[in-house]
Amino acid sequence: MKLAFAGAGFVGIVYGAMMAKKGNSVTIYDIDENKISALNDFCEGKKNSLPIHEEGLPTILEQAYKEGLLRFTTDSKQAISDAEVIFLTVGTPSDAQGRADVRYVNAAAHTIGKVMKEDAKYKLIVTKSTVPVGTAKRLEEIIGTYAVGKFDVASNPETLAEGKAVKDAEEPQRIIVGTESERARRILSDLYAPFFFPGEKGICFMSPESAELTKYACNTYLASQVVLTNMFANLAKRYGANWREILEAIGADPRIGKFVHPGLGFGGSCFKKDVSALCQMMKDTGAVREDYEVLERIIAQNEAQKHALNPLLKQVYGESLDGQTLAVWGLAFKKDTNDVRDAASLRVIPDLLQMGAHVRAHDPKAAKEFLKEIGAMDVDMANLEICKEKYAATEGADGLLIITEWITYRQPDFAELREKMRRRIIFDAKDLMNYQKMQEETDFSYYAIGRPDIVR
Ligand code: NAD
Repeated sequence: MKLAFAGAGFVGIVYGAMMAKKGNSVTIYDIDENKISALNDFCEGKKNSLPIHEEGLPTILEQAYKEGLLRFTTDSKQAISDAEVIFLTVGTPSDAQGRADVRYVNAAAHTIGKVMKEDAKYKLIVTKSTVPVGTAKRLEEIIGTYAVGKFDVASNPETLAEGKAVKDAEEPQRIIVGTESERARRILSDLYAPFFFPGEKGICFMSPESAELTKYACNTYLASQVVLTNMFANLAKRYGANWREILEAIGADPRIGKFVHPGLGFGGSCFKKDVSALCQMMKDTGAVREDYEVLERIIAQNEAQKHALNPLLKQVYGESLDGQTLAVWGLAFKKDTNDVRDAASLRVIPDLLQMGAHVRAHDPKAAKEFLKEIGAMDVDMANLEICKEKYAATEGADGLLIITEWITYRQPDFAELREKMRRRIIFDAKDLMNYQKMQEETDFSYYAIGRPDIVR
């Protein structure tokens, strides 16, 4: 099938590449010329120009491009005109009130409509972006003001997770499709057929409104689980209980599941904006405060959690960090991605700098993105150094903070840390170290979220 993707972001690149891998002819277009030329450069062999880091993605892109199944362009008109199915994968950030800002979705719909004014061929427009309930209907109206031929708009919210996006796209747990059109249903069934074994029921069909709401429900359930987990981890620490032991028991309950690791709250581009948008939708539809207040609390508790290391730092160093050098391992919002949107590092490092520390930070993939993001904030960076190597970051450090769960940080060489660091203190926000080993085999003081302190 001939497909176009509007928006070469995380979702557009990963899903576009995956659809090409499944044999479709895919054109990904974007209004951002730099992004498109970086993607074309990468496919032409310029190794370091891929804008996103996702395991397995480079090979799929290279292969699909080589086979002529994948193109990147800024020529939206051509891409739309050639395609039978157009996926919308543009961003839907929060607006000033916390609603989903649908201006990019609307703009993309107008562009599609304008092409369809001159071309009567049937097209299916599919929203993969996370959009407020009612958007499919509204896009139908927008495109309908231009289109001379038949078309359908279907909702197909995307649930892939960064860091394992290729795997999620290739082996989806389920595909959500909202449509009332039999034709759209058939096209999407065909398109997704290669993602499931014959006879396997992989697609959940529903109305567009249900599909749009499903995505908000998924992210809100997950976000609330993170918040509850951190609440209990904080409480466990205050009681001297061990969250990891509790986790073993909780995780064994299939009604609760495994998504219960403590940390500095959720980050990334989705949970906060989607919970905020849902909260606004609740208000817009006349929900009572008691119903939507829980969503406001999820966001507030999560924000507070980003600063959860501060009391531990004060416990160890006192109110001021003047004269202290602190190493920070991890800048990405989670492992295996270079995305720093709403990452804990963007709260932790400004806190450390503000308290007077000298900060030496490292991340395997996200240093450039972090510098860009923090550079746009009102933060004095004179005392911030970004190090290319993780142990270099610990040189002369009075403490090491681990805030992203990259595997490379999991089993550090303690002899090297001992040699490099001025004081042997580790703050583990991701519960990454082996607690027993920290207790029995090292001489480091160890402060972790959800664990009793090991003080030396
Ligand atoms: P992103 O910000 O990484 O990329 C969006 C891209 O759309 C940008 O490159 C932008 O230049 C482009 N764009 C904007 N307007 C355009 C237009 N009119 N025509 C063509 N391109 C245009 O966004 P993302 O993280 O890929 O997310 C996209 C959508 O998918 C959002 O609604 C998000 O909530 C949802 N989503 C994201 C994830 C994720 O993990 N990132 C997962 C599931 C769903």
